[in-house]
Amino acid sequence: MSIQNIDSPVTTGIYIDGEVREAAGGKTYAIHNPARPDELVGHAASATVEDVDAAMKAAHAAFPAWAALSYAERAAMLMKIADELVADQEELDYRSRLFCREHGKVIKETQLEMTRLGDRFRLSASYAERLAEDEHLPGPPFDTIITRQPRGVATLIVPWNWPLSILGAKLPQALIAGNTVVIKPSHNSALAPSMTIHKIASLLPPGVVNVLTGSASEIGDALVTHPLTRFINFTGSVGVGRHVMKMAADNITPVTLELGGNDAAIICEDAELDAGAFMRMYMGTFMSSGQICMALKRLYVHRSRYDEVVDGLTEVCERMVIGDGLLPETNMGPVNNEKQHRIIKGMIEQARAAGQDVRECGQVPDEELYAKGYFQKPTLVFDPDQSLDIVREEQFGPALPIMPYDTDDEVVAKANDSNFGLCSSVWTKDRDRATSIARRLEAGYTYLNAHGPAAQDGRGPFGGFKQSGIGRNLGYEGVLQFQEYHSISSQPGWLL
Ligand code: NAD
Repeated sequence: MSIQNIDSPVTTGIYIDGEVREAAGGKTYAIHNPARPDELVGHAASATVEDVDAAMKAAHAAFPAWAALSYAERAAMLMKIADELVADQEELDYRSRLFCREHGKVIKETQLEMTRLGDRFRLSASYAERLAEDEHLPGPPFDTIITRQPRGVATLIVPWNWPLSILGAKLPQALIAGNTVVIKPSHNSALAPSMTIHKIASLLPPGVVNVLTGSASEIGDALVTHPLTRFINFTGSVGVGRHVMKMAADNITPVTLELGGNDAAIICEDAELDAGAFMRMYMGTFMSSGQICMALKRLYVHRSRYDEVVDGLTEVCERMVIGDGLLPETNMGPVNNEKQHRIIKGMIEQARAAGQDVRECGQVPDEELYAKGYFQKPTLVFDPDQSLDIVREEQFGPALPIMPYDTDDEVVAKANDSNFGLCSSVWTKDRDRATSIARRLEAGYTYLNAHGPAAQDGRGPFGGFKQSGIGRNLGYEGVLQFQEYHSISSQPGWLL
């Protein structure tokens, strides 16, 4: 890939059957910098239904040969991809900067996403030996081998907030399991993610990885309902997830859905509340301007420590610098898009209008930029009414409600009083108490004395209870979802 001038707009294509192409019809759409909405970052290809069909057919044609490779052979290719993703520092820097400009998140985070993707290829490759083992059940009553087979073409749909990390929770797993894929990145973050996926695809046989960018209203349903799709792995909002599930029902196509969250954190009366703890609370909440499914979104604090937490967290938030994510001194960039900006501003205004105590924190060195871009300072809402949207809904932006509680039973009930059930956290010095509260929480993942991506163990299956989703990504279990079980049996004493 040639390194282009950071200031010149870039154009990305789609990738089908081993080559970069223009979309059928040649259309593209523009992507602007959310810190400076009048700055054009580039154009991404607007794929059509015709492109969906071509990508599906390419993936379908590549499937038998890819599935026939051994796990060890596929693992070797995944390891090579992991190395190549970080081999060229100049190219990596370029993609990280481009990603920062199209997305808004700070450059350190875009660099982190780039390296995390390679790590997730390594992790999936490490399961090769375990995956190759069938289960043997000697009779009586029968001799039975329980084996697994890849499903076929998997459709992978990712959102804009952490597109590469999220892709890393499904793409290497699909590949090691023996599937071929068609990927759809989000409309709102398509340039650097596409370039990165093109690089991965170029290191594999043609047709194994295909990628389509464009408008979901044009290609979304076609991807989900295409007769060659054998599995759909979707990450995004509850509303679109529900729609995808309904569409998938037509062909009885299995789905994994990773949807929204409204994660509760519980700060017990014996929690260690030092500077490190407040920084972990800040990062768990406000990293990526709060646009993380597994971000801390409701903070419940034992009444005896409430003032201490309010002061400690306010102090950290006040130190943060909000501005253009490309600048090294910036701690928080803008929200990714106008719609999300409107949603978060609306929730803060609703709390203010209801007479709640709202504090917007942080340093803004460039007020003019702040006024033009999709910015929102880190905002704390103190002891709000539980019926407000900032408590009940997923804010997916830099605002956090902080609420006191008195007993463990009360706080567990409040934490579980949500249609969501993605992640949660418990903060205490007492190990037994931590695990006993954690086991009562309706959430797919509970962090102890931390919260969010920086504390996540990629070996653990990840996903949600209730409307936060169906199925799991990551870990060994995340690979198994890309396979079907197949039992082979005979009369006893013949097969085993
Ligand atoms: P979204 O649901 O609007 O879009 C997600 C993806 O689905 C995008 O690529 C979009 O183009 C595509 N899409 C839209 N309509 C479609 C259709 N009809 N058929 C097929 N695909 C379609 O979500 P978003 O705004 O990109 O992301 C934010 C949401 O994602 C938040 O709710 C957040 O919590 C959630 N999220 C969940 C996780 C998780 O792991 N649970 C991770 C990150 C984000």
